[in-house]
Amino acid sequence: MTQSFSVLGLSAELTRVVAEQGYSEPTPVQAQAIPLILEGRDVLAGAQTGTGKTAGFTLPLLQRLATMPARAGSAAAQPRQRVRALILTPTRELAAQVEESVRTYGKYMALKSTLIYGGVNINPQIDALRRGVDILVATPGRLLDHLQQKTVELSNIEILVLDEADRMLDMGFIRDIRRILALLPAKRQNLLFSATFSDEIRKLADGLLDHPAMIEVARRNAESELVAQRVHPVDSWCKRDLLVHLVSSGDWRQVLVFTRMKSGANRLSEYLCKAGIEATAIHGNKSQPARTRALAGFKAGTVRVLVATDIAARGLDIEELPHVVNFELPNVPEDYVHRIGRTGRAGSSGEALSLVSAEERPLLAAIEKLLTR
Ligand code: AMP
Repeated sequence: MTQSFSVLGLSAELTRVVAEQGYSEPTPVQAQAIPLILEGRDVLAGAQTGTGKTAGFTLPLLQRLATMPARAGSAAAQPRQRVRALILTPTRELAAQVEESVRTYGKYMALKSTLIYGGVNINPQIDALRRGVDILVATPGRLLDHLQQKTVELSNIEILVLDEADRMLDMGFIRDIRRILALLPAKRQNLLFSATFSDEIRKLADGLLDHPAMIEVARRNAESELVAQRVHPVDSWCKRDLLVHLVSSGDWRQVLVFTRMKSGANRLSEYLCKAGIEATAIHGNKSQPARTRALAGFKAGTVRVLVATDIAARGLDIEELPHVVNFELPNVPEDYVHRIGRTGRAGSSGEALSLVSAEERPLLAAIEKLLTR
């Protein structure tokens, strides 16, 4: 079934941007979420990165803000009290990508957005808030800092989005999230996006959502024929050399490699560099400018191999990535699905290769069980 964006009820400003982005038809999550969000419903959506979920909530959110009158009282409020929509994400990278999407999709509209995350100077964020913003994209920790310093207020929030809610819980943000929720007005629209549904997510959703519409889209990459998944049995101590060999002999130009630990990511990227392959590591111990630089280098092609831990790689929007390598299998089988979600996106094909040592056999079995193959 193909359906155009205008049929979903999006305005001319938004269908124009969508056309400019080259999107010819909505993805399944967009086709389901956009009309529901435009109606003002609360939504619980099971969708992972790569499904087009960001546009799925951003497009209707922009339209609602543009068409609904701001809450009575907020017009008279100080600029820092005028925030109308809050999008919470687990990582800085994801926050940056979502905010970029808000800017792109909202470029023909008069709404202002800003980005709030930790690891960088707080003052430019305070200045932006002081000038007044409609849409705030934030990670929980730094948002709480602003709330404590009273540099932002959330009393006029009309729409709340929790993006990658499962990952926020995995990262231990539940208490931060609850503290933030307590500061929001009771009457608002809530949208919760999550790749997986644990009991903890259901509990959060139960307390947060009002008669939500449920959306579940297929785990795109687990079922995608576009991603060829291969397993390479190998002793742990041979993995580094095998990787060097694969990258050089296959002339791989853009490879995302996953390790389990930050220290392992650093050691591997150093080893690759010594072997003459431009590589860099991206993980939570790196400063924000260093992470941004690493990602920019990778996208531009100056960095051939990006070595990442699961948390750092979560939500990175790197399109059409031809090679993903699991240098070590993840402890949590769901992370495998997230990892290979980096490749074969937006219709292009990709390959996911796992280097599996004998000790990792049980992890492999758990993944095969999850994927039922
Ligand atoms: P997301 O799941 O939000 O991270 O989006 C994954 C990628 O799909 C992004 O690079 C988007 O630019 C792209 N995308 C979003 N919607 C569409 C669409 N309707 N058609 C083609 N690509 C899309």
